[in-house]
Amino acid sequence: MKNLLVQKYGGTSVGSIDKIKKIAQRIVNIKRSGKHIIVIVSAMGDTTDTLVDLAHQIHSNPPSREMDVLLATGEQISISLLAMAIELLGEKVISLTGPQVGLKTNSTHKRARITDLDDKRVINELKENKIVIVAGFQGIDANDDITTLGRGGSDTSAVAIAAGLNADKCEIYTDVDGVYTADPRIVKDAKKLDRISYDEVLEMASLGAGVLHPRSVELAEKFGIPLVVRSSFHNEDTGTIITTDERMERTEVKGIALDNNIGKISIMEVPDKPGIAYRLFSMLANRNIHLDMIVQNTNRAAVNDISFTVDDDVLQEALEVSQEFAFEVGAQKVEFDKGVAKLSIIGTGIVANPEISSQFFETLYNLGVNIHTISTSETKISVLVDKNLAKNAMISVHKAFGLDQ
Ligand code: ADP
Ligand code: ASP
Ligand code: MG
Repeated sequence: MKNLLVQKYGGTSVGSIDKIKKIAQRIVNIKRSGKHIIVIVSAMGDTTDTLVDLAHQIHSNPPSREMDVLLATGEQISISLLAMAIELLGEKVISLTGPQVGLKTNSTHKRARITDLDDKRVINELKENKIVIVAGFQGIDANDDITTLGRGGSDTSAVAIAAGLNADKCEIYTDVDGVYTADPRIVKDAKKLDRISYDEVLEMASLGAGVLHPRSVELAEKFGIPLVVRSSFHNEDTGTIITTDERMERTEVKGIALDNNIGKISIMEVPDKPGIAYRLFSMLANRNIHLDMIVQNTNRAAVNDISFTVDDDVLQEALEVSQEFAFEVGAQKVEFDKGVAKLSIIGTGIVANPEISSQFFETLYNLGVNIHTISTSETKISVLVDKNLAKNAMISVHKAFGLDQ
């Protein structure tokens, strides 16, 4: 649709009635400047965490389907309140849930993936000159069940809607001024980046920089949606523009990311024969469990240890699958470790530059930080380290690469 802007406001940005009223005024001003506007919102403040906590007071491993029914309520509160605030300012407005905007997903509850967007309803509402407020983070599967897209998933709702309706751009409003060289809450002298490529920011987001949901970046790149991250608290800063790679000649470290929300699973003494890794990883894939940092050590005759990391929210499920696998193939035991974190340096082409990796490892050595696992790709080097040392290491590595300058 022509002249269409999509904006997304995160939890802190709609965290109080006062903030909702301020955002309402900002949205109305944009509408009055002659644009169509769709606004995606998250649940207010810590609502989603509170809901998760309520569920765990009842059930140690709550059924995923019911979890989604519960978590989706958070966003329903904020869309209705924001719509009321806009109505009071005299503009036509309607709030819609994920199912109402036709955001179809698969049935993997708690981390569903978008399969389709049936945009008829939204287009009709926009044609009636309404501001459309949409609940982020939620969709509906083929059984008409409510699903959610994984923590932080409202960003992905926003980009999917921007892509589906061919919006001019998608603006992500949050509680920091943009994408920084590292999480500004941990690294005080982190610097805001004016521009960053989709690939680099995708790598940062996937490696724990919570500022964007990784799927949102993938979708924005795939559909060529210009993405901007900026602060909802003031208008002065233009934020960070995410663009296609400008292929810089110089390889450099663009940012540092830390992921504390992971666990390591190790399966000890797995029989050493063809097909074993395939069996384990297909069992995990069948449950849509994404793994990372896979290591296999051959240390004794005829047996291997296999270890890998997974996100906290699938740790329990991954452990169950690993135990089932261990029993089936006659592995000795399954262990898990919550005391690790993944620290990564990110930048286009860095893995091909030996000076960069050596600088990274030297910095960790000087701090006395032991590296458990290393993994690399074209745009990142990640290490698994003890969680209690990780924040300090992040600050030092940030400095070592001159990102504070
Ligand atoms: P929202 O509720 O608006 O979606 P989030 O908490 O999901 O906000 O994301 C914003 C937060 O991301 C910031 O408050 C910041 O602490 C964190 N963050 C982590 N890494 C980065 C980074 N590299 N740049 C900016 N923010 C980051
Ligand atoms: N409210 C959800 C969460 O806290 C989704 C989001 O904020 O993007 O994870
Ligand atoms: Mg977020």
